[in-house]
Amino acid sequence: MKQDEFIGLEDQFGAHNYKPLDVVLSRGKGVWVWDVDGNKYLDCLAAYSAVNQGHCHPKIMQAMIDQAEKLTLTSRAFRNDQLGPFYKDLCDLTHSHKVLPMNSGAEAVETAIKTVRKWGYTVKGVEEDQAEIIVCDNNFHGRTISIVSFSTDENARAGFGPFTPGFKCIPFGDAEALEAAITDNTVAFLVEPIQGEAGVMIPPGGYLKKAREICDRHNIVLILDEIQTGLGRTGKLLAEEHEGIEADLTIIGKALSGGFYPVSAVLSNTEVMNVLQPGEHGSTFGGNPLACAVARAALQVLFDEKMIENSYQQGNYFLNELKKISHPHIKEVRGRGLMLAIEFHPEVGGARAYCNELKEHGILAKDTHENIVRFAPPLVIQRDEVDMILDAINKVLPL
Ligand SMILES: *Cc1c(COP(=O)(O)O)cnc(C)c1O
Repeated sequence: MKQDEFIGLEDQFGAHNYKPLDVVLSRGKGVWVWDVDGNKYLDCLAAYSAVNQGHCHPKIMQAMIDQAEKLTLTSRAFRNDQLGPFYKDLCDLTHSHKVLPMNSGAEAVETAIKTVRKWGYTVKGVEEDQAEIIVCDNNFHGRTISIVSFSTDENARAGFGPFTPGFKCIPFGDAEALEAAITDNTVAFLVEPIQGEAGVMIPPGGYLKKAREICDRHNIVLILDEIQTGLGRTGKLLAEEHEGIEADLTIIGKALSGGFYPVSAVLSNTEVMNVLQPGEHGSTFGGNPLACAVARAALQVLFDEKMIENSYQQGNYFLNELKKISHPHIKEVRGRGLMLAIEFHPEVGGARAYCNELKEHGILAKDTHENIVRFAPPLVIQRDEVDMILDAINKVLPL
């Protein structure tokens, strides 16, 4: 079949809830992907950071095949021999005490919300049904009803009410606004260390440290959504490490499976996670042996193959080179590790057209909003490959 025929099938039979670039991929390896006509592209999105380890990593693939031949699903009605070791690996690596495994990122966010509400009522002593969670403008935490209830993106919300109450929005990066928003009913502050979908928005230095201090002072749970920033993306295992803090709850997903399988988790301290009792929360697939085996391998290769250091080094190089580009359309370049963006002046816009041009030069990147292009390649990228991206960016810029 030809590219157009695949696209036709999607258009005819699929829901139109995405507007993808018109490239139909059929193969991937490391930072490279190939379309059905055999054209090769450098992937600068990495499935929104779900394939940090590179496409079809052989060790993760082997772990998946080995486990698929043995046991794939028990449900949590019975125990399995992969879950305990997965918990231990995750806790050892992240200094967490407790893990609750789920599948998608949104499910893990929902899990965190339920958990801190219950903590609010049973430990903090908030009056029933009064719990408030503070979140930030321009957040992205997923697509469920509760999560879009506290989105500030009209596109994500319009037409989907009635919404879940109990959330309060404050500006991102503003510690004073956090302090001012707190009431006796506040149970948690939920924030992304760097806002990914908003366009790689990096808060002022010291923001997370201040948030940590404010949460401590008011007995509030600090929840970091590291679904996108975590697992090496920003040059550290978790982005919280850049400010030397530890969240009470950390949400991870995406690259936790290296792109093979939906695996997410809430990492927690003991006090908060211990409020959940049998029957109060769960998931048929959450913590299944296939997911656990894949996730353990995905974590292992991040360290064994020094992908986190590579993210830091290539990311610094990439950002420094981006900063050297001077073009009247560019408002700002920014990034941390391999999470980078070029923001064009709003009146220029054209991020989508720019991505289409990059595609013609063998680079797949995705626009966020009208005027921002994000660059987040797999963490296995090498210097000469970063140079290829820079070369394409330079060629396409005069637009
Ligand atoms: C992708 C993402 C989510 C949602 O994850 P899904 O697996 O798509 O449900 C939540 N938070 C952040 C920061 C994300 O990047």
